[in-house]
Amino acid sequence: MNHTLQGLRSTLHQLDGNGYGAYKRLKGSYDYGEFDLVIDHVQSDPYAPPSSIRVIFALADTSIPHSMCEGHDRRVATADFIARDLTKLLCGCSYRGLSMSKPGQEILERTNVVVSDDTVEVRLSVSLPAGGRRIKGRAAAHVLTNDLPDLIERSALLSGMDQEALSRQVDLYLDQRNLQQQLADRGLVSFVGDGSVLPRSSGDSDLPLRSGVAFRSPQTFREEFTLPSGRTVTGMGVPRGITVIVGGGYHGKSTLLRAMERGVYPHVGGDGREWVLTAPDAVSIRAEDGRAVTGVDISPFIANLPSGTRTESFTTTNASGSTSQAANLAEALELGTSLLLIDEDTSATNFMIRDPAMRELIPAGSEPITPFVDRVRPLLEERNTSTVLVAGGTGAFFGVADHVIAMDEYIPSDVTARAHEIAARDSTATGNDDAAEPIFARRPRRVPQADALSPSDRRKPARGRGLDSIQVGREDIDVAYLAQLVDSSQTNAIALCLEAVTRELDGSTDLVASVHHVMERLERDGLDALVRRGGPRGDLAWPRAQELHGAISRYRKLKLRS
Ligand code: ADP
Ligand code: MG
Repeated sequence: MNHTLQGLRSTLHQLDGNGYGAYKRLKGSYDYGEFDLVIDHVQSDPYAPPSSIRVIFALADTSIPHSMCEGHDRRVATADFIARDLTKLLCGCSYRGLSMSKPGQEILERTNVVVSDDTVEVRLSVSLPAGGRRIKGRAAAHVLTNDLPDLIERSALLSGMDQEALSRQVDLYLDQRNLQQQLADRGLVSFVGDGSVLPRSSGDSDLPLRSGVAFRSPQTFREEFTLPSGRTVTGMGVPRGITVIVGGGYHGKSTLLRAMERGVYPHVGGDGREWVLTAPDAVSIRAEDGRAVTGVDISPFIANLPSGTRTESFTTTNASGSTSQAANLAEALELGTSLLLIDEDTSATNFMIRDPAMRELIPAGSEPITPFVDRVRPLLEERNTSTVLVAGGTGAFFGVADHVIAMDEYIPSDVTARAHEIAARDSTATGNDDAAEPIFARRPRRVPQADALSPSDRRKPARGRGLDSIQVGREDIDVAYLAQLVDSSQTNAIALCLEAVTRELDGSTDLVASVHHVMERLERDGLDALVRRGGPRGDLAWPRAQELHGAISRYRKLKLRS
């Protein structure tokens, strides 16, 4: 550490008017007294992605109590708290030029703020100011030596700390984690707390609808959890098994399902979904026509195609509604999941059901598709995979459902008994007549070729592009339909994980094993270890194995060993 704040200021004043490239000289560490500033990366021109800097504190020099940083989960919650506070301050436009990757409504492990046993690191981007292609040294000095210390000074790291709010957030996160871990022991796959507000304020916002009707569990599903902070939470426990959500259009069915789907992640206080928690490996399944499918066993759902194409290892560059939904489901099973979440709104009808009239007209032998209604129970029995399904337009699932929940003006009630009566009366409603032969006994392994994921252009490493795509060489992987990919920082991390998977592949390792290896290494070494080029990044967030596997499965150039 040989530079000081004053040194940085005078260097910047000297650089004023020089060619932009001279900013490179700033790389290095600066002692600001209360903290250190590290300039890791300097952009090469004014239009390039901004420069990366880090503010590093000794934990003891911040207002964060040491007790809030004990153990991994407390550190995640504390880092998230600091990040939210900083992004809020940065939103006021008084700090033009400085930015930080902004957390969404989920509390995730991220790299924008990293809390360790004895340090706190804040990672920011800064656009170094230019006039044309010349350095604006005085403006840069203002950003780095006035605005930056001012931002830090006002933040929760120092004087702006609301210790009670921090401790509330840490307690909340520990309680949420604990509740999520208790689900399996209670025989539950999801939980929706009483008082939750599930709808969002608009289609393109993840903030709560202020006027939303609060959730209230049916008495028969009510569960109570006592959590580490001492609080108790009550709400609707969705048991393992097959659960169908019914109700009239516009009564809140999809909103409930969507909240469960997001419940794989804990949500921040005030979100309305704090007490919606779902089995962490739950996968939302939908139709996704047009997607590429490579070597997936969809035979439990689709077989005997008129073309003679084998569906034990099905490949297409342009899947139909039903095949894409079958592939999404088969891939989820390949990785392993305890819960499928399916909404009629985003499903292919012919994948889901076939009504008695159609069963009569087209004999099963001439229909390649065995609808999901005939497979949902074997899935549970053979794979211990539960399903929560929204079906407002068909009673076909009544007979196979363990539980039926009716939504009426956003309030659920238990209508299982009535639905079972109806199903018994119309026993032709489902054709669940399959023989005792196991259906999901095969555990096919997809083994990618050693170079299956290597980009055609090695100078172009994989990178995330927002929420919807990942660039691998000249290819783009379309991940827009991975509904549980919620943050562009997760996409960035998945891009780096893809490179890690690429290094695992040797032509004999199967895809699932390599995904698990990479996730295990991530658990052990942390997000920062994913970065192999350049300095530490502030734009990564914890991904799930499900989305990593989903992204690889959608890669159009995936090549499997035959
Ligand atoms: P469905 O799937 O039953 O047709 P949706 O879940 O799509 O219904 O919800 C329909 C509308 O009602 C949406 O605009 C949604 O935001 C709103 N909504 C859902 N749940 C609530 C609630 N608890 N309070 C107020 N509005 C809600
Ligand atoms: Mg709906």
